[in-house]
Amino acid sequence: MEILKGGCYCGAIRYEITGPPRWSGHCHCRSCQLALGGAFVTWSKVAAADFTITSGSLKQIEKTLGIRRGFCGDCGTTLTYAADSEMAGQDWSADAWFAATTLDDPSVVEPKAHVFVSHQQPWIKLADQLPRFEEF
Ligand SMILES: [Zn+2]
Ligand SMILES: [Zn+2]
Repeated sequence: MEILKGGCYCGAIRYEITGPPRWSGHCHCRSCQLALGGAFVTWSKVAAADFTITSGSLKQIEKTLGIRRGFCGDCGTTLTYAADSEMAGQDWSADAWFAATTLDDPSVVEPKAHVFVSHQQPWIKLADQLPRFEEF
C-alpha cells in the first residue's frame, strides 16, 4: 500500500497515511477560517488506523466542546480535526481528518464538495462545479 507523508510548516510534526484519502472537501465555516487563518480549508479523511503521527506531538484545542483541533505548538499549523463520536450522528472515531494542504504533495487530493458555504466569504468566487452545501 502506498504511504503518503505530510507535516507542519516547521517540520516538527510529521505524519503518514496509508493509501489515498477516502474523501476530501472544502470547509468554509467560520471556525475553520479562524483556526487556520484562511478563507476556507480543505479537509481530507482516511481510516483512523491509516493515520500515524511519526514525529512530534500535536497540541489540541477544544474551543467548542467535543471538537478538537490538533496543531503544532511550535509553528501553529493546524493538522487535524476530531469530533466526539456521538456528534452529528456520525461515527467520527472511525476516521482521521487532516488538513489536505499539509500533505507533502497536496495535489493528490480530490475534493468532492464545498461545505458550510453559508459562511463563505463574499470575495471568494468558486469556479468549480463541485456540489455546495449550506452546512455539512
Ligand atoms: Zn510545526
Ligand atoms: Zn470548518
